Amino acid sequence: MSKDESSGKFRITEKTNACMTNSLEGTVIRSTGSFYEVRIEDGNVLTCRIVGKLRLGDLKLTNPVAVGDRVRIQLENETEGQIKEIFPRKNYVARQSPRKKHQVHLLASNIDQAVLVVTVVEPKLKQGFIDRFLMMTEPYDIPVIIVFNKADLYNEEDQSIFQYLKSVYEAIPHQAIRTSVLTGAGIAELLRMLQGKCTMIAGQSGVGKSSLINALQPGLELRVGDISDYSGKGQHTTTFAEMFELEGGGRIIDTPGIKTLSFNQYEVVDVAHNFKEFFRASVDCKFDNCTHRSEPKCAVKSAIEQGQISELRYANYLQIIDEIENQNYWELNTEI
Ligand code: GDP
Ligand code: ZN
Repeated sequence: MSKDESSGKFRITEKTNACMTNSLEGTVIRSTGSFYEVRIEDGNVLTCRIVGKLRLGDLKLTNPVAVGDRVRIQLENETEGQIKEIFPRKNYVARQSPRKKHQVHLLASNIDQAVLVVTVVEPKLKQGFIDRFLMMTEPYDIPVIIVFNKADLYNEEDQSIFQYLKSVYEAIPHQAIRTSVLTGAGIAELLRMLQGKCTMIAGQSGVGKSSLINALQPGLELRVGDISDYSGKGQHTTTFAEMFELEGGGRIIDTPGIKTLSFNQYEVVDVAHNFKEFFRASVDCKFDNCTHRSEPKCAVKSAIEQGQISELRYANYLQIIDEIENQNYWELNTEI
């Protein structure tokens, strides 16, 4: 969805009680689907439910409250409460529900940046995955750090794939770094990048996201998956999003391993808007509604010919809009 469509406020459609005694504000730190954990100002964590319905524009939400949401709750007893209001979000990241076109699933809200953990090998990086992820963060201009983990396993060719992708994504611009949980390379650098910020961390299962979070914040002891999780078909190591505090300042939101990323709820023009360097170049396209395919005098295509826009990004762009027009679905564990 585009920024404009998402400006709708979230309100519970139930009449709120005029008497707001026992009302507190807090931050949602864990969502399980049936209840939410909310940290209130004194540091205590309350178990909360919602009553009433929440919608985001025309889209149905499979989970109306996101980790990161600031909420007003009404206490029911010392440890439980009801979420009565969600304060306006500065941003959010949402995924389309894999087979339900008009349903979206909120991954996180009110974040300063996102870390996308990938690896060139084990599991092999699937072409288009990074661009698909950016489709979720670009509507709000959320800065993304692409972390290429398992660097200890990269041979010379893998290293040059990393260097190439780093140059492609730095041109947008997004950052790209290499890490290895095994050798510790890049971990201190990544930790510095997270200081004082709220960062959503996402990735396909098996890339080492849990291992990386354990290395960033010793003591969390997130469960590390085994080889059977690599396929993307295996069980998730993380089922629900959860926020953790970093000792040196800052917060991270761990999200469930990504299996599919489809965008059937988008229009072609939304894709063009969310490929930021295309959007910048498109001011010089002859047609305002140019899709940068076969239209004459297309500034995006000439930027590609002149080497100013990456051909890889263009190929991935064409793949996504083709998918939208044909209403196909894209999954990590099936070949395109
Ligand atoms: P997640 O599914 O993304 O949370 O991945 P896990 O943290 O569960 O890790 C999946 C597998 O990759 C485990 O066997 C880890 O030990 C391994 N792994 C994680 N990071 C690295 C790394 O930097 N190098 C190597 N060689 N293996 C790693
Ligand atoms: Zn164009």
